[in-house]
Amino acid sequence: MNEGLESFRKVLELERARGYADSAVIGGLDRFLRALLESDRLPPGSPVLKTIQGLPARGYRSLRPAGRRRWLDKALATASATEAPASKRPIRARRSAPTPAAVRTADGGLDTPITSLKGVKSGLAARFARLGVHTIHDLLTLFPRRHNDFARLHRIADLVMGEEQTVKARVWSADDRKLGRTLRGTEATVGDESGMMRVVWFNQPYLARQLRTNAEVVLSGRVSLHKGHPTFENPEWELWEGEDLTHTGRLVPVYPLTSGLAGRTVRRLVKQALDAHADAFEEALPASLRQRLDLLPITQAVRQMHYPDSWEHLRLARCRLAFDELLLIQLAVLRRRRQWQEGGLADPLPVAETILQGFLASLPFPLTGAQERSMNQILADLCQDRPMTRLLQGDVGSGKTVVATAAVLAAIANGRQAVMMAPTEILAEQHHRTVCGILGAHDSDALAAAAQPPYLGRRLSIALLTGSVPAADKVRLYEAITAGEIDVVIGTHALIQEGLEFARLGLTIVDEQHRFGVMQRAALREKASRSAHMLVMTATPIPRTLALTLYGDLDISVIDEMPPGRKPVKTLWAAPEEREETYDFVRRQVDQGRQAFVICPLVEESEALQVRAAVQEFERLRTEVFPDLHLELLHGRMSAREKEAAMRRFREGEADILVSTAVVEVGIDVPNAAVMLIEGADRFGLAQLHQFRGRVGRGAEQAYCLLLSDSPSQEARQRLKLVEETSDGFRLAEADLEMRGPGEFFGTRQSGLPELKVARLTDVALIELGRREATALLESDPDLARPEHALLHREVRRLEEQVTAEVH
Ligand code: ADP
Ligand code: MG
Repeated sequence: MNEGLESFRKVLELERARGYADSAVIGGLDRFLRALLESDRLPPGSPVLKTIQGLPARGYRSLRPAGRRRWLDKALATASATEAPASKRPIRARRSAPTPAAVRTADGGLDTPITSLKGVKSGLAARFARLGVHTIHDLLTLFPRRHNDFARLHRIADLVMGEEQTVKARVWSADDRKLGRTLRGTEATVGDESGMMRVVWFNQPYLARQLRTNAEVVLSGRVSLHKGHPTFENPEWELWEGEDLTHTGRLVPVYPLTSGLAGRTVRRLVKQALDAHADAFEEALPASLRQRLDLLPITQAVRQMHYPDSWEHLRLARCRLAFDELLLIQLAVLRRRRQWQEGGLADPLPVAETILQGFLASLPFPLTGAQERSMNQILADLCQDRPMTRLLQGDVGSGKTVVATAAVLAAIANGRQAVMMAPTEILAEQHHRTVCGILGAHDSDALAAAAQPPYLGRRLSIALLTGSVPAADKVRLYEAITAGEIDVVIGTHALIQEGLEFARLGLTIVDEQHRFGVMQRAALREKASRSAHMLVMTATPIPRTLALTLYGDLDISVIDEMPPGRKPVKTLWAAPEEREETYDFVRRQVDQGRQAFVICPLVEESEALQVRAAVQEFERLRTEVFPDLHLELLHGRMSAREKEAAMRRFREGEADILVSTAVVEVGIDVPNAAVMLIEGADRFGLAQLHQFRGRVGRGAEQAYCLLLSDSPSQEARQRLKLVEETSDGFRLAEADLEMRGPGEFFGTRQSGLPELKVARLTDVALIELGRREATALLESDPDLARPEHALLHREVRRLEEQVTAEVH
């Protein structure tokens, strides 16, 4: 069978098994499909190609679950129709699921298919496959979502209504009965030495036969009153056969289920698999480390994770497994960092004091203390022959561009080229304009702007390279860059990656707007240059836990101080009935000569719908609310030229109000804009709202941010309140991460991290512990070459391969 088709099908099946959560491959399905299309691994002319191209422009990710299912079913049908001759062979147990590296092992029966378990036939195996479970190993790492506490046995006479409790009793009678008009079920009477009670199971008449009179049973569930008698409705139950209980009378695991898989079945099979195979899990942690940190042995951790002896045992099991996951990530991240620093030597780029002083004196303002500190850290890195790998982090408006330009200057002063990449054209153009301004270029509209800063003593040229540059000009630019005639190239990520060759690249700056994860960054760097210094900029305040994981490969500089004279943006959350007043406020500001942004509500299904909503909102505002004002519209489906034209009219003060989708988030700079009105504010994350807010308040006037939301949930109210009260981006970021998790926090799943089964990226203490231990491990054994690290080494390598495979 064609290998591309095979991997297409595998990934799609896994995606289906995981409930269409776009979690089958790291980096998301869209990235996988794109790579597949580009790789020529599919047979030419295959109908599968069409199916992939049939996805909406914004990809699988933009579909709702129902739409995802429809597309995926069709795609799988197409794929198996294509490969019909080969598909007759029996389904093999596959290791397609990314398994938590923490608990993998080579043999010991863990790789045998679950059909080796008693009572697992092909039908049941297929249902497990939908959960991504093919092998014993998969089953044993299908960890419970939670546990029910059925541990304490109660006497029937002591039962408390409404609580989940467990009794051990003897069956007096059990009958198959009609319960109500149409329902059939089992009704039983059971008793212990203290009393008797009624038990019913709806829809399970067959239980009557299994519960023979006088049998001893354990029942766990919530107790209600029925005609004055204590009653269990649909309790968990099992026959008492000694101490070793599975479903009742203990902490009972609750598994993620799929239709046709009963909780009882999963519990029974997990129990059976644990008894037979748990000992096969290999201990990857060196004994000394495990003992020092007081971590459970791996086999115990896996057992206790499913069937804990107590809540404390469960906590210890989670702790052990989470630690493994986090330790491996840290080992991978730290090794990546070391490879960068040892992989290629960079040329040191020292700047003469006279040049630096000249540069600083040419600025219209003194640097803030935080800017100066960050700049010095960067310039110190640039003096080394190890390539710099630094993250410059600072809130919107904190003045990162000047600091980055100082780094650019260091490259130029050493006769090297610098490249700055931005995620969008608008932002690239703005960076170009800003850098031109700072370096004193006048013709910033030219293909390559020329500047001759007095402190440098020579001419330099600063090119802008975006998709809007006409093809012929682009060719000329590429040639000039390769010939070394251009000193600074500013452009979009995409263009820069198209195999652009530099004569002597010294510095790469990535303005990533938090779009990239660890491994993507690595790939980007490979494409740019391994021996160039690298500076990554982000405006998202990054909580410490993420700084240690997603950005753990970078040194970090933080600009945590705003330029003087900025007034904090006044933020107000307006109730739905205050909409008119809100519009009146915007109008009064416009009357005073200010300008305003209006952000349209977020529509998640597709970009097309998003655009339609924005156009509607724009029309409504233009004709009904502000008919006498000049409004402009900005959305993602406009051509670069249209966007630029609309932006220019707004920037130059021709337009009063810019109505925009979230694209405006990625930094445009209009000092006269004093109002940011956000519609449907509850749909956005805190960090994102904070970014919007940062778009105003750049001038001398007091600026305002108005949040509108028609029907905010209780949770949304809390979040909006927080934005209203807090101007500290860090606090908002922490809260955002807490409330929505890292995937949502970054507005994307492409974090470049493996899926975590147990650990949480908000667990500061454990992440820090993982970091410390990984650092110590690599200090004592940089290549993990010692025998006691062999298993760890294997797991880290597996993790690295798994993640990088998704990037390319
Ligand atoms: P960021 O990229 O961090 O969002 P910018 O670099 O675009 O911020 O700077 C925002 C604005 O602040 C720009 O207009 C810039 O000229 C100005 N600015 C930067 N540093 C200072 C400073 N130290 N003092 C006064 N204004 C500054
Ligand atoms: Mg900026």
